[in-house]
Amino acid sequence: MPLLPAISTQDNSANRRGRWIGRLPYFVLALFLATIALLVWMTREYDAEEQQTSLITDVLWMEQNLRFQLDRNEALLQQVGLDLLRADRPSSQTEAQLRQLMSQDRGIVRVLWLDQHGRLKGALPPQTDSGLVGEADGTVPAESVMKLARAVGRPVYGPAYPVVGGKFNFEVHVPTWSDDAFLGVVVAVYSLSDLVVRELPWWFSERYRVAVLDPDGKEIAAKSKIAPLATYRSYTTPFEPPGHGLTLQITAYKGETRWMPVLLIASIVLFGVIIVWSVWQLRRQLARRQAAEQALRHESAFRKAMEDSVITGLRARDREGRITHVNPAFCRMTGFSAEELVGATPPMPYWDLDQLEHTLEVHDMVMRGGTPTDGLEVSLRRKNGERFDALIFEAPLIDPEGRHSGWMGSVLDITEQKRAMELARQQDERLQATSRLVTMGEMASTLAHELNQPLAAISSYNTGCINRLDAGQVDPSELRGVHEKIGRQARRAGEIIRRVHDFVRRAEPKREALDLNNVIRDAVGLIEADARKRQMRISSQLTPDLPALTADPVMIEQILVNLIRNGMDAMVATPAARREITISTRLLGNTLETRVCDHGSGIDAATVERLFEPFFTTKSEGMGMGLNICRSIAELHHGRLTFEPNPTGGTIFILTLPTERP
Ligand code: ADP
Repeated sequence: MPLLPAISTQDNSANRRGRWIGRLPYFVLALFLATIALLVWMTREYDAEEQQTSLITDVLWMEQNLRFQLDRNEALLQQVGLDLLRADRPSSQTEAQLRQLMSQDRGIVRVLWLDQHGRLKGALPPQTDSGLVGEADGTVPAESVMKLARAVGRPVYGPAYPVVGGKFNFEVHVPTWSDDAFLGVVVAVYSLSDLVVRELPWWFSERYRVAVLDPDGKEIAAKSKIAPLATYRSYTTPFEPPGHGLTLQITAYKGETRWMPVLLIASIVLFGVIIVWSVWQLRRQLARRQAAEQALRHESAFRKAMEDSVITGLRARDREGRITHVNPAFCRMTGFSAEELVGATPPMPYWDLDQLEHTLEVHDMVMRGGTPTDGLEVSLRRKNGERFDALIFEAPLIDPEGRHSGWMGSVLDITEQKRAMELARQQDERLQATSRLVTMGEMASTLAHELNQPLAAISSYNTGCINRLDAGQVDPSELRGVHEKIGRQARRAGEIIRRVHDFVRRAEPKREALDLNNVIRDAVGLIEADARKRQMRISSQLTPDLPALTADPVMIEQILVNLIRNGMDAMVATPAARREITISTRLLGNTLETRVCDHGSGIDAATVERLFEPFFTTKSEGMGMGLNICRSIAELHHGRLTFEPNPTGGTIFILTLPTERP
C-alpha cells in the first residue's frame, strides 16, 4: 500500500506547517506585548527619573532659598551689629531693622548682642534671665560658638538644641569689628520649625514633605504632620548652614495618577485579550477545518484506491459530451492514456469506425437522458485496432449544488463473456444433437417397425394389383382405390421419415408461430410405436383453440418426447393396466401449460435435488442430459419446467411457455 504512507507523510508536513502557522500569531502577540511592556516600563522609568530630577531640582532650589534667606539675615545682622555694640542704646533705625528681622517670616525668634567678653548687652525681645539662650537651657556651649566666630571672623552657626514645646532652635553668631577691634557678636536665634514652615512656599509643601533630622536621624522639625509612606520618593541633603550633622529630608507625595499611561496599558491589555481570544477562536476554526480536510483526504484516498482497484471502466462526460475523467481500468480497456482521453469530444478515439453512425446515435441518446437501465451494448475499438464488446451503464452526475453536470458511465468489457456464451451455446446445441441422436438410436428399432408397416402395406397392395393384372380381372375403379391406399401409406412413411429427419437435423432454433397441440400430436406420433411395444398407452386431453406459440417446434417436440420417454421408463414396474401417460394442455393467463402425468415410480427425496443436474441418471443406459436440456430449452423460450408428485401415483412434469414474449 504505497498510497497511504505517501499520504501520511504529506499529512505530517502539512500538519507541521499548520501547527507552525497556528502558533505564529501567539509569537507575534507575545513579542508585541513584550515590546509594549518594555515601552511602558521605559516610560515609567523615564517618569520616575523625571520625578527624581524634578525632586532634586526642587530640593536644590529650596536649599538655595534657605541659604539665601540665612545669608540675607547674616548681612542684616552684620549691619545692625556695629550700631548695637558700639552704642549703649540702639538707634531707632537699628531697632526698626531688628524688628524687621523678627517680624518678617524669617524664622528668627530672638536677636541678642554680646560684648567682646560675651556678656549680654541687649536682646530683642528682651531677655529676662542673664544667661545666653543656649546656656539658659544648658544644652549649647554658646561661648565656644562665639569664640569660633571671633576666631574665623565670619558668622558661625551653632548646633540645634531643644527648647520648650518639643521644638528645636539653633543660633548664628555674627562677629562684629570696628577698625580691627572686636566688639562682640550678634546672635540670631532661629526656630527650626518656624524656619522650615515659614520659609517654604505653599506649592512646595503641597508637593513635598520637608523634615529636619538630627545627626541620629531623629526628626526634630517637619513641615507636615502626615508621616510619609516608605514607598514615597525621598531625598536627603545636609542642612548647610547650620550644619552640625543636621539633614534635610524631602519626601515627594505620591504624584497625581497619570491617566494616559493607565488608559494606554488598559486598552493594550484589552486588545491583547481580544487578540488572544480571536486567535484562539481562529485556531479552533482552523482545527475543525483541518479535521474536515483530513477526513476528506482520507475519503478521497479511499475512493481513489477503490476506483483504481475496480476492473470496471469509469468515464465521466460533461453535458456537451466532453470526457472529464477516466479511471485506470478504462485506460487499460481502451489502451489510451488518461491524457489522450480527457477533453476528447465525439467521435471518441475508442469508437468503432465501422459502427460510427450507430455509436453516435447511442451517444446522442445518452446525452438526451434516454439510457436503458439494463445497459447499452456497443462495439468499441482499442488503440491497437482490436475490437471489443462493451456493456455501458450511464448515470447522471449531480454536482454539490444539485445541478445535472454530466454523465458517469461504467464500461464492462464483455468480449470474453460473449465468446464464452457463444461457446456454451454451441456446446449446448451439440449436446442437444447428441441427445437427439441417442434418443433416435434408442428409437431406431421402433422406427424401423413403424416404417415397416406402411412399406409392408404398400408391398401387399402392390402384390394384389399385380395379381389382379395377371388374372386379367382389372376393375379400374378398384385399382384406383388400391393406388390411393398405396399413396396414403407412402405419405405416411414419408411423414415418419420427415419427422425423424427434422428431429435429428442439427438446426438453429427457429421462431415460428405454432400450435402446441399439433406439436404434442407429432411427439406422440413419434413415440407411439415404442409405447405400444412396451404395452403402454399415451392419452391426450388437449384444450382446443389454444393461442399460437412463438417457438422452435423441434425443440418443443424434443422436450415432450423426453418427458414421455422418462415417464415410460418410470412405469416399467407399474402393472400393465395402469401404464398410461396422460398429456394435457390448458391456458393460464398468458401462459400455456402442458402437463405430462405418469403412474411411474415417482421421484424420491435424494433425486429431487439433482434431477436437473447434467449427467445425473439412475438408468443403466441413461445419459442424464435429458431433463437438463429440456429445462435449457424451456428457459430459452422464457418458460419453465417443473415437476410435482402425481396424487394418483407417479410424477407430473409441467412445462409452461408464454404465449407472448415479454
Ligand atoms: P436419463 O433419462 O438419461 O436418465 P434425464 O435427465 O432425462 O436423464 O433423467 C434424469 C433422471 O431423472 C432419470 O435417471 C430418473 O432417475 C429421473 N426421472 C426423470 N423423469 C422421471 C419420471 N417421470 N419419474 C421418475 N423419475 C424420473
